[in-house]
Amino acid sequence: MVRKKSKSSSPICFDSQKIHLNATNDMVLNGQTNHTIGVESLLFTDDKDEILTNGGTFDLIVIGTGTAASTAAFDCRSAGWKVAIIDSLPFGGTCALRGCEPKKVLVEATKTIDSSQRHENKGITGSERIHIQWSDLIRFKRTFTEPFPKEREDSYVKAGITSFHGPARFVGSNTVKVGYDGNNRILDGRFILIATGAMPMNLNIPGSENVITSDQFLEIEGENLPNRIVFVGGGYISFEFAHVAARAGSDVTILHRGKQPLERFDQDLVNRLVQKSREIGIDLQVQRAVNGIDKSSDGKLVVNASDATAADDKISITLETDMVVHGAGRVPNIEGLDLTTAGVEHNIRGVKVNEYLQSVSNPAIYAAGDVAASGGLPLTPVASYEGGIVANNLIKGNTIKSNYTGLPSVVFTTPPLASVGMQEQEAKEQGIRFRTKYENTSSWYSSRRVGETCSGFKVLIEEGSNRILGAHILGPHAEEVINIFSIAIRLGLTAKHLNDPILYAYPTNSSDVVYML
Ligand SMILES: Cc1cc2nc3c(=O)[nH]c(=O)nc-3n(C[C@H](O)[C@H](O)[C@H](O)COP(=O)(O)OP(=O)(O)OC[C@H]3O[C@@H](n4cnc5c(N)ncnc54)[C@H](O)[C@@H]3O)c2cc1C
Repeated sequence: MVRKKSKSSSPICFDSQKIHLNATNDMVLNGQTNHTIGVESLLFTDDKDEILTNGGTFDLIVIGTGTAASTAAFDCRSAGWKVAIIDSLPFGGTCALRGCEPKKVLVEATKTIDSSQRHENKGITGSERIHIQWSDLIRFKRTFTEPFPKEREDSYVKAGITSFHGPARFVGSNTVKVGYDGNNRILDGRFILIATGAMPMNLNIPGSENVITSDQFLEIEGENLPNRIVFVGGGYISFEFAHVAARAGSDVTILHRGKQPLERFDQDLVNRLVQKSREIGIDLQVQRAVNGIDKSSDGKLVVNASDATAADDKISITLETDMVVHGAGRVPNIEGLDLTTAGVEHNIRGVKVNEYLQSVSNPAIYAAGDVAASGGLPLTPVASYEGGIVANNLIKGNTIKSNYTGLPSVVFTTPPLASVGMQEQEAKEQGIRFRTKYENTSSWYSSRRVGETCSGFKVLIEEGSNRILGAHILGPHAEEVINIFSIAIRLGLTAKHLNDPILYAYPTNSSDVVYML
């Protein structure tokens, strides 16, 4: 039995599998489409005694409040659109609250440890007395993350964007339900943007409940980190956190299933970074498939892994530890959205979109950022870029296609490893004629003056045209210098453009660029 109670006659349209009008024109669930209710009307359903409130009708509903979501929401609002935005977590998304930003705060602090050790006997003494006070560092990190959700929400209010808290789920092709049991709202959108990001992939192993996520790692309480930490997976998140943890005094192990970690990066430079990682005490074990985690009554964890290098890969390795961290990859966050109800096709890479970032199966839906199967990497600059493209294509019609040429990516270890453009293998596979310049730069002043012995670069330049195809840099400030190559690749510049007559500030790491060409 469902009854409708309406306080206003402002119309809202539903195209919902769940909600329908009954014979006496009351709103009911399950079946019909295109009904009209008033703003603030209440929908009482047979289903779980659920009360649904009409949350309004919008030009654009954005699911998520991260980088992609906010960019699109602000742009569409600036064009005069009526915009709603929704998040089930505190507003702000992954980068600001649980990713890039808080992580970089930890990385910068631990860099101080590394820097003082590198300068030991080079004018600095007593580096062994410098240590990370973890609880203080987390408190410092929170000065960035804690104010952010309110600041973000205030900025929506100021812009005239209507915000909603709670999980969103499709109940029709352009209708979502948002909120928590007993307090749900139904929103109807001319368009809906899915910008729900990514989440750690399911490990599907016994004892996975004993594994903490990167979100939890960034919130570890206590004076110090645990003595022993195992990271599952050898991707960038594991390497970055492993470098932080090792500098903070933990015994760190990374278990990686494949033969080589950091597979997207230049493997010659990765090998150097692995050597440095081992020098600072990180035990990187490759070809280790984690099969399960046991927890003993005293809280100790035992990681069970198989050794894929052994003739019999059933040979088991056990590792006792105090903490296990998930670094085994992230997947698009589509859980709970009920995309099928909205007719939104998806695959393991996320929401299937065309080159305009519009759903291939429902033209009212767009997707951007980590959740979109767009071909862009799951990185913040991509989320921001795609959010802007979606806004443009909504406002002006489908006119801008995404183009990821020159997208850099960085592993924020100490030293950092940065990469943009093609890998050697990729250039070979494409039949491109190119030359490679590859050098160990530990003897260069830019490395020597900071005591860094782990540095190098590889630059790929096309024969004939001299176009920069790819650049891979390991060492101090690699994360900054890579942006110069990013501009070059994005704009199709040649080695000559980056050399004469550019006047680089000196002595800077950027001024090394001319020797890399
Ligand atoms: C530890 C870590 C470190 C990282 N470091 C870097 C880095 O150094 N550089 C870099 O470029 N990238 C980094 N990234 C990746 C970067 O954070 C993401 O690419 C970026 O934040 C994705 O933005 P987004 O807008 O797609 O989604 P997100 O920022 O993830 O936002 C999605 C939002 O949607 C919400 N949501 C999900 N489902 C629902 C639902 N059903 N209803 C309502 N709300 C929902 C979520 O709560 C979330 O707030 C890092 C990620 C992690 C985890």
